[in-house]
Amino acid sequence: MPKLNLSQRGNTTLFNQVSDTNELEQLLEPHYERPSLRLTPSPYVSQKNLAKRWDKLSELANQQALLDQQSLEDAELYNKNIEHFIGTVKLPVGVAGPLRVNGLHANNDYLIPLATTEAALVASYNRGAQLITAAGGASAMLLNEGVTRTPVFAFHRLADAGQFVSWVVTQYDHFKQIAESTTSHGKLHDININIDGNQVYLVFEFHTGDASGQNMVTIATNEVFRYVLEHSPIEPKEAFLDGNLSGDKKPNAHTMRHVRGKKVAADVHLSRQLIEKYLHTTPEKMVKFGQMTTTGSALSGGIGVNAHYANALAALYIACGQDAACVAESAIGMTRMEINEQGGLYACVTLPNLMLGTVGGGTGLPSQKACLDIMGLYGTGNAKALAEVAASLCLAGELSIVGAFCADHFSRAHQKLAR
Ligand code: NAP
Repeated sequence: MPKLNLSQRGNTTLFNQVSDTNELEQLLEPHYERPSLRLTPSPYVSQKNLAKRWDKLSELANQQALLDQQSLEDAELYNKNIEHFIGTVKLPVGVAGPLRVNGLHANNDYLIPLATTEAALVASYNRGAQLITAAGGASAMLLNEGVTRTPVFAFHRLADAGQFVSWVVTQYDHFKQIAESTTSHGKLHDININIDGNQVYLVFEFHTGDASGQNMVTIATNEVFRYVLEHSPIEPKEAFLDGNLSGDKKPNAHTMRHVRGKKVAADVHLSRQLIEKYLHTTPEKMVKFGQMTTTGSALSGGIGVNAHYANALAALYIACGQDAACVAESAIGMTRMEINEQGGLYACVTLPNLMLGTVGGGTGLPSQKACLDIMGLYGTGNAKALAEVAASLCLAGELSIVGAFCADHFSRAHQKLAR
């Protein structure tokens, strides 16, 4: 057997590609000539800018594939959502459901639009939705809400940081007033303080109404941040609007037990017969799978335990005009499966970081709004329901994928549908 060169482990691709160090240097050194592929300096959407951009791009790609008649007509609608616009990418959208949700806010049979290019995904969520609906629906409960921005301030020494904090705690009511002057729907409902040596992190947590809220909390916190810089009796040496404690687009252990966006739990009891009919397996096998994969998840150092929340959330977020990058923090949580008293299966999911909204962001764009309309969840008053639907959809996906592994259908389904 060939012996592995241990010094190359982990970098084998690099060593296989480059053997000559001179060549490596040449490839990686800076090049200062002006790029020939510059498009427009202006970032805005306009017919003039579009024509200029495509003047050059048409040498590289088929213009119609990105800028068809509809995208051209709708171009101005995208002005608040994108810069340097060149067209739209078409993604296939499928529908999973009806998924019955018996929630505090979502109470309906939902047809759920999912945008993806991954075969088997919509089929799998559809199967989980049919199963849950046949069992009377998923119960779902919004448990908590909060979106944070976390400015950070550095001082000369710990004692200054302490004095700064003594002043901050006298200002809470004032901070609330300042923050809420920037928004009619955002409410500052908590301020937390974290001291790390000579640095102070202020954690401003907002309720954001029906908006996902990232812009709202940034604008509101910035107003307080400016006030602090002007009025603090101890001048910070350095200060930044966000100190990366907010968990914005990063999964983290703190929000696993707290909240970022909306925290929702959903559960269902399934009879043995339904599991056999829809998933072709048994509750015992599913519970065993859950135990063994929970160990795997712990060994991998994952935050929480779930099979594939990211599949549901990425497809739902893209279809419905959410910030798809928030799947990074949204797709953490806990899935559990147990044998219930009737010998069936109890399954539950808890997702503490669902970043989503039914107003703002991309929710009002033409096809994204249409997707929210399919669920009856566009606009004011619907964000809590959307969060409960999202968690129930994740539950459907967990049941379906665990069933597929247990019945040994997982690879077969992908081979049949994707190849
Ligand atoms: P937004 O579109 O910036 O703000 C929501 C708007 O909707 C506000 O003007 C709000 O008015 C209004 N509104 C009307 N009815 C409302 C209701 N019922 N509930 C809540 N608001 C209502 O959206 P956002 O959710 O704050 O921000 C989402 C976007 O931020 C995403 O597109 C995301 O990509 C982006 N983002 C921003 C940052 C950042 O740091 N800036 C970071 C990550 C992502 P009022 O404010 O007057 O209430």
